Amino acid sequence: MKKFILFFLLFLQVLAYAKTVRVGYYDNEPKLFRNRYGKPDGFFIELTNAIARKERWNVQYVYGSWSELVNKLLNGEIDLLPDVAYTPERDNIFSFHSIPVLHSWLQVYTLSNRSISSVHQLRGKCIGVIKGSIQEKFLLEDFQNMYGFNICVKIYETGSELLEALYSEQVDCILSSRFFQYSRDCEKNIIPSSVVFNSGSLFYVTAKNVHDELLNAIDRNLQQMLNDGSSIYYRLQRKWFDHKPSFWSIIVLISVIVAVVFLLFYIHSRFVQNIINLKTREIEYAYQQLEKKEKNYRHLFENIIDAVVIFDATDYSLLDINERLVRLFGWTSKQEAKRRLCENFTLCSQQALSNFIQEFLEKSQTDEITVERTLHRADGVVFHAQLQIVRGSFNQRDVVILFIRDIEKQKRTEQQARKATALFNTLALNAPVGIFRTDASGKTIYVNPAWCEITGVSDTKALDYGWLDAIHPDDRQRVYRNWIDRLSKLLPSKEEFRIVHPDGKIIWVLGYAIPQFVDGAFDGYVGTMTDVTGLKDIQHRLEMLNQQFAEAHQKAEEANRLKTIFFSNLSHEIRTPMNAISGFASLLPQFLHDHEKTKHFVDLIQKSVHQLLSIINDIVEVSLIDTGQIQLKFEHMVLGDFFDHLKSLYDLDLYIERNDNTELIFQIPDSLKNFELYTDRAKLQQIMINLINNALKFTPEGYVLVECKMIGNQTMVFSVKDTGIGISLKDQKYIFERFYRAHHSDTIHVKGSGLGLTIVKSYVEMLGGNIYVVSEPQKGSLFYFTHPLKKIITSNSADQTSMM
Ligand code: ADP
Repeated sequence: MKKFILFFLLFLQVLAYAKTVRVGYYDNEPKLFRNRYGKPDGFFIELTNAIARKERWNVQYVYGSWSELVNKLLNGEIDLLPDVAYTPERDNIFSFHSIPVLHSWLQVYTLSNRSISSVHQLRGKCIGVIKGSIQEKFLLEDFQNMYGFNICVKIYETGSELLEALYSEQVDCILSSRFFQYSRDCEKNIIPSSVVFNSGSLFYVTAKNVHDELLNAIDRNLQQMLNDGSSIYYRLQRKWFDHKPSFWSIIVLISVIVAVVFLLFYIHSRFVQNIINLKTREIEYAYQQLEKKEKNYRHLFENIIDAVVIFDATDYSLLDINERLVRLFGWTSKQEAKRRLCENFTLCSQQALSNFIQEFLEKSQTDEITVERTLHRADGVVFHAQLQIVRGSFNQRDVVILFIRDIEKQKRTEQQARKATALFNTLALNAPVGIFRTDASGKTIYVNPAWCEITGVSDTKALDYGWLDAIHPDDRQRVYRNWIDRLSKLLPSKEEFRIVHPDGKIIWVLGYAIPQFVDGAFDGYVGTMTDVTGLKDIQHRLEMLNQQFAEAHQKAEEANRLKTIFFSNLSHEIRTPMNAISGFASLLPQFLHDHEKTKHFVDLIQKSVHQLLSIINDIVEVSLIDTGQIQLKFEHMVLGDFFDHLKSLYDLDLYIERNDNTELIFQIPDSLKNFELYTDRAKLQQIMINLINNALKFTPEGYVLVECKMIGNQTMVFSVKDTGIGISLKDQKYIFERFYRAHHSDTIHVKGSGLGLTIVKSYVEMLGGNIYVVSEPQKGSLFYFTHPLKKIITSNSADQTSMM
């Protein structure tokens, strides 16, 4: 207790030592002012308190107007006055400390509906200021000097009077320190302009030289505060001189924040909702997929081609079997299947079956093993099955799966294939024909011994396309080309060609290849190779015989045709003279006493005989030509004599009845009259007579000109020209054929056999020449033929030389 009393007394003594400092303040918000509770407040007040706490001053605040306070300071009623701008005049009456508390300048403020952006806009304006303030002095004393124009200055006692004057438009603007904008008054429609003057510093002052210790203490504290960025000085600066948001702006800001938060919350909730929806859908989808998968799996499991049994991999207990298993064994249900499955493995229980599976896998030491077994169906039928035992996982569980596949059909097919192969091999090895096989690319992969024997090529050499080397060079290209063509179309190939044996022997072979298809896919060719050399010989002979037969047949047909034409054409021509002969011969006995008539009948009979003879001669001559019995007799003949003789024959009317309207002219150049032609005179005469007779027959009036000319020095040309009825172009093509008579013969009845020109053509050709006709209907015809002057050889001539 004693101790406590001692401490209390000590505290009272300390308080007693504390210095009392009287500090004046006025309204100049926010630097210093009296707040709504009547207390001093503002930057300078709080700064003064801070210094006072440090210096243990007991501060007493005295309120007043600026001018009152100045008087009080000078009278010693207060000790310290803050917020005093330095001016030399003031320096004379006050003591200033040395470190400025704040830096300031003067700024023009107006109502927000007016604007002042340059000093010149102040011309003629009324500016309000507080009485005794530095701005009053500036406006009254310096403004005019600095800017050269007058303004009206109105002075008010207090800050509130000044603001009232601005609102009531007694003044246009006010001039205050820069700190005015941070006061609450400034918020009410008053805005700082950009027009500023007179920067300066603000200090505490005392009456001249009275309280230097106070000023020193202020300087000392300011020094410390300014050097410390976290000091109260800077905190106060931020507190009082930063723009504080207005109530409405705070409300708006809060509203915006609330709206943004609400919006964000809304978006977030929508987003979260969407995500939830999405996730829900995903889960639903996944669930559906899972269900689908499960369904698919079940479907697959039940209908897979193999019967399936699933065992647990740890204890080999039977987990599942599929429907296929039931069907494969012909059981009625899965229950029966499970019960009777073990019987098939000659095991009596599922446990034993499990052991069997386990043993299998352990023996094989792999995760998969395939074996073949014979199993029994429900009806007792035994079948081959392939068992595949596989380790795996199923529904996240280690399992062993047994696949059972019925391979009975496959076994049978394999057996059949083996039999077929054996059969093919036996056939191929023993067949007398060559057999070969190719792969799908057409390359030979097999030939049998007979093939090697036929071709003389070894089986190794024959492989691939080696067999081509054995083919005769003349056939190789064709065989290869055709083979590739067949192969590209997958068509059978049949080809005859020659093979050249190593000893040079050439044989004919027939290659025959058939495409093979296995399960619809082309698998290559199987073919045979047969030696057809003997057949080829027979074939060749047969062809010859056939040809001879065809010729003989043609000749027989021709003979038949001739016979027909002969009988139809010539029966009339023969019958007419025959009738004449028999008719006049029967009349003769009655008129024997009448010499004249008898002579006339005999003449007629003679003419008919002659006509008949002529026809018969023609027929005989043609048949001689046909049978190759004509013999040529070449001799030298003087051309002039030949022509003279010919002419004399016609002068005697020996060969044909002449009409007086047609003149027959023989014309031979003098230069040729003595020319000795080496020819068969009789045949040449026959040619000429036939041509002249025709010309005379078919020329009712005009002339017939017989000529000969020499062309070059190797050919003699004989011609018979007439001015008769002519021959159409169409008929000209056929008149040299046997029995052909031009159509005009039907209208103009002229006797004839249709053999004359045939004989002419044959004889001209036998003599080594050619015959031509130029004719136009109603204008006449020209027949001319060549006769060579050089030596000719004909098969029919005994004497085979014809020399000039
Ligand atoms: P033919 O015995 O009928 O005269 P050819 O073989 O001598 O037999 O003549 C065949 C046919 O050619 C004659 O029937 C006749 O129609 C025609 N022909 C031949 N020479 C002449 C010719 N100079 N003028 C008109 N037609 C002719």
